[in-house]
Amino acid sequence: MRVRVAPSPTGDPHVGTAYMSLFNLAFARQQGGQFILRVEDTDRARYVADSEAQIFDTLHWLGLDWDEGPDKGGPFAPYRQSERSESYRPHVERLLADGHAYHCWCTPERLSEMREQQQKAKLPTGYDRLCLGKTREERAQLPGFSESPVVRMLIPDAAPLTFVDVIRGEVKAPRPDDQVILKADGLPTYHLANVVDDHEMGITHVVRGEEWISSTPKHVLLYEWLGWEPPAFVHMPLLRNTDKSKISKRKNPAARLLWFREQGYLPEALVNFLALMGYSLPDGREIFTFEEMVETFDWGRVNTVGPVFDLDKLGWLNGHYIRELSLDDLGGRITAHLSRVGVLPAEPTQEQRDLVRAATPHVNERMNVLSEAEGMLAFLFTDDDAFTIEPESAAAVLKGNAGEALAAAITALEAVETWDTESIEKTLRAALVEGLGLKPKLAFGPVRVAATGRRVSPPLFESLELLGRDRTLRRLRAGLEAVRPGQ
Ligand code: GLU
Repeated sequence: MRVRVAPSPTGDPHVGTAYMSLFNLAFARQQGGQFILRVEDTDRARYVADSEAQIFDTLHWLGLDWDEGPDKGGPFAPYRQSERSESYRPHVERLLADGHAYHCWCTPERLSEMREQQQKAKLPTGYDRLCLGKTREERAQLPGFSESPVVRMLIPDAAPLTFVDVIRGEVKAPRPDDQVILKADGLPTYHLANVVDDHEMGITHVVRGEEWISSTPKHVLLYEWLGWEPPAFVHMPLLRNTDKSKISKRKNPAARLLWFREQGYLPEALVNFLALMGYSLPDGREIFTFEEMVETFDWGRVNTVGPVFDLDKLGWLNGHYIRELSLDDLGGRITAHLSRVGVLPAEPTQEQRDLVRAATPHVNERMNVLSEAEGMLAFLFTDDDAFTIEPESAAAVLKGNAGEALAAAITALEAVETWDTESIEKTLRAALVEGLGLKPKLAFGPVRVAATGRRVSPPLFESLELLGRDRTLRRLRAGLEAVRPGQ
């Protein structure tokens, strides 16, 4: 049993690539088969250089590893279609010789004019077969002739338009056009390369998104003409936006796989979420591991209805996974995230790592994604010169009695002997609540805003302990200066 995912490197990776990889891999692992990664890069016009590396990187990040692929090698190498271009030619020759394919010399301009006219006349669009049955010389007499021909499939009138899908049963697809299989640049199109490679790589099950349903009858014909056994087909439902439209990078940032890492979703939470988008465990549990998915995997449990990509649910799931992590693990992931977004340097010092670790128990209950730690912890890693107070927080809190509270807090904290949470709390309560008779909110709000720059922070006394005495006092003095300049 061999399955594959076959992404095209046309931009930063789409979440659908992870979704398809997950289902292919779960099936392969359950069956003891192989999971292959093949790069379909024959469309040179849409090729993006970094894309392949980003695909590898994000799939590794998710733990969706392949057994054979361009970076791993394997018995059917190469796994990049651009390196296999020689292998497609003989099959094209054979299809031409058998009359299943023909040359087409029409220029792109002629084809678009033809399409326009068909649309105007409300006729079905499709190639009008102007070149069919003509020699090069005959065709050259007519307008819209191009020197470099493409090769098209000759779709027979009796072409079967249904096929059997493992999860959908019999599927009907529209009648195909005379599909181009070899382009003018001599490279195969997706359809030919995909079929030839799936055959040559021994793929037994083609598991892909439902957007390929309309292509499958063409593929079935190619298998038949080339005398090959077709694989089993599984067309997974497309992920949808909440308005049910197809998830696209233009409309939804969550279509970009990199977005999840930027936002600080945990890979294990995203894998669980993507699994839930098409799969349910027999006991209906929503939180499960990849291994649990593998153990119970069955195409009969896979949805065919387009699952809605609900980010609230993912946030909830991610929060759950965050709270399941050990504090050491979570601290390490927060550190890595802060480095990625530039709050910490690319290689944080041990001291910085320790500070994040010490702060972790004070933030872990307050976040659903790692990016929420940025706002909560930035105050610990901002130099005094760069430190600023959020203007709205300053306007809301640094007023009225704030100066009195800050002045008293400074005097009291200067005298604290042991700089720890307990002493800080005792001292500030004595000075501000008992001493000045302030309500806790009015007493501690200004201290929080002056020290952390925000009204929302990890717990105050713990935050001051982490910030250290010198930095705390410097910031409180600066806060006081802002409230009562010159005093
Ligand atoms: N290269 C196609 C894609 O980008 C592969 C489709 C298939 O799996 O057949 O999705």
